[in-house]
Amino acid sequence: MTSLSFGGLSEPVLRLSVFLGVLAALMALERVLPRRGLHRSRGARWTTHLSIVVLDGLCLRVLGALAAPLLAVGTAIWAQAHGWGLLNQFEAPAWLEVAVALALFDLLIWAQHRVFHRVPWLWRIHRMHHADPDFDATTALRFHPIEILLSMAIKVVAVLLLGPSAVAVVLFEVILNACAMFNHANLRLPLWLDTPLRRVLVTPDMHRVHHSTRPGEHHNNFGFSLSVWDRWFGTYVAQPRDGHLDMQIGLRDFARERPESLRWCLAIPFRAASAASATSATSAETTPMTGAAPPDADPDLDPDPGSSRD
Ligand SMILES: [Zn+2]
Ligand SMILES: [Zn+2]
Repeated sequence: MTSLSFGGLSEPVLRLSVFLGVLAALMALERVLPRRGLHRSRGARWTTHLSIVVLDGLCLRVLGALAAPLLAVGTAIWAQAHGWGLLNQFEAPAWLEVAVALALFDLLIWAQHRVFHRVPWLWRIHRMHHADPDFDATTALRFHPIEILLSMAIKVVAVLLLGPSAVAVVLFEVILNACAMFNHANLRLPLWLDTPLRRVLVTPDMHRVHHSTRPGEHHNNFGFSLSVWDRWFGTYVAQPRDGHLDMQIGLRDFARERPESLRWCLAIPFRAASAASATSATSAETTPMTGAAPPDADPDLDPDPGSSRD
């Protein structure tokens, strides 16, 4: 297969450099400007989250070794060679093609995230991400291998339909990874920075709402990179009802368990949903796609970002 190069860096080196560089920078900033205190042992959580990254990476490597075209980059190369996908039907400047692909893929990830909250069996898998009782940059690494493989399958179908270049796919995956670590950071951004930034990008304060134990909050704010999709499709909640310092993070059903353990994380899709969890998923499932607040949402939530922060 053709190897991709980005300014002299090979694709794997680019991915690893951005991942390690952004993670290290955010961990350093979290020490200097922490938003909240953490409740569980950092060592246990970080070990589990880094183990999950390795495990997820291995699953994708095995899939790639078995059939490279089943990964998004391999599919993009194949689609370009065979004239598949919308973007391969037109001659357009490379920058425009990359920009369109990045925006559409970000919308796809937003929609996929929303579906994972609405369909009960998908929520069972995705709730591993939400069960983290704390919220820091490593929470962004906490996705079940089944979710990673399903996500790749969805991306492969999207690549076949859209036909982006392999470069656009790599850039999208690298940017998504960096943005996800940023918006999970336990970082206190000053209001003068958070307010303008979240008009375009998902900030840590915006995504923290998505990790609230309140279903009316964690079934909203689905964006990972661009914040506009939640605003446009009515799933935007500006601030948590209890404020960023007092809000509860995680899932109520599992608050007394050990969600920081790797074995616990891997087993969670196969555990029966409790009554409370089922109710949460169902409430999202039956909430009309109008963006109306679910029953537990606070009708007094301030729609103006940043105006009622701790
Ligand atoms: Zn989620
Ligand atoms: Zn998250």
